[in-house]
Amino acid sequence: MKDFNINIIPCLNDNYSYVISVGRDALVIDPSESKPIINFIEKNNLELKFILNTHHHFDHVGGNLELKDKYNLLIAGNENDKKRIPGIDIFLNETEKFVFNSHEFQVINTPGHTSDCISFYVKSMKSVFTGDAVFSLGCGRLFEGSPNEMWKSICKIKSLPDDTNIFCGHEYTMNNAIFTKAIIDNEAIDLKIREIKKLRSNNIPTIPTTIAAEKKLNIFFQADSDEIKSLFSKELINDEEAFKMIRLAKDNF
Ligand code: ZN
Ligand code: FE
Repeated sequence: MKDFNINIIPCLNDNYSYVISVGRDALVIDPSESKPIINFIEKNNLELKFILNTHHHFDHVGGNLELKDKYNLLIAGNENDKKRIPGIDIFLNETEKFVFNSHEFQVINTPGHTSDCISFYVKSMKSVFTGDAVFSLGCGRLFEGSPNEMWKSICKIKSLPDDTNIFCGHEYTMNNAIFTKAIIDNEAIDLKIREIKKLRSNNIPTIPTTIAAEKKLNIFFQADSDEIKSLFSKELINDEEAFKMIRLAKDNF
């Protein structure tokens, strides 16, 4: 039986933080700011025990210190990001397990957006929290990593079970869908755009998406597809080259 709740907390302009509760105990992934988190915690009478950070960007750690000040909590992030994540207490890596009330948060290194971006895969929740590595219909910009690194990161996420829910750091889905339609105009993307419009006009997040859905529609997931490759190059190119071209096309879109 499901003993947990994953709550989407909109923050700043288009960020999502996630409060995960098991009974009264809670953790928050990427608190962009403290206020909306505090409101949620107080309203639902929860006890905030941990902050988990996917990477060091301000719109993901902005609430760290204020929340730490207010609650008796610990902050966990990539050990390689210990100089960049405010208030970090717990140093994570791919081999160490982070367990929260019997739910195991597996750390997956997903560099590309930053050099030390991590994702959290929680098998018992059928969920992965990707920060700015993977978005619905998109992926993060390459601020500190190479296209090769990012493609490898995407392949790791892609290899998770199809029914895994993806919770990402931003509501960028519509913008990504418009880009997708410009590249590959088909019925599936039109349908998706209609769906997104309906959700967003009712102020409902398009998140979570799933691995299965992204495999079908996320063009960045398809850099290994001959059909997609042929849209970018007449010559034979490898997956990494294709990915690089897709990323570049999106950067210039
Ligand atoms: Zn970021
Ligand atoms: Fe971000």
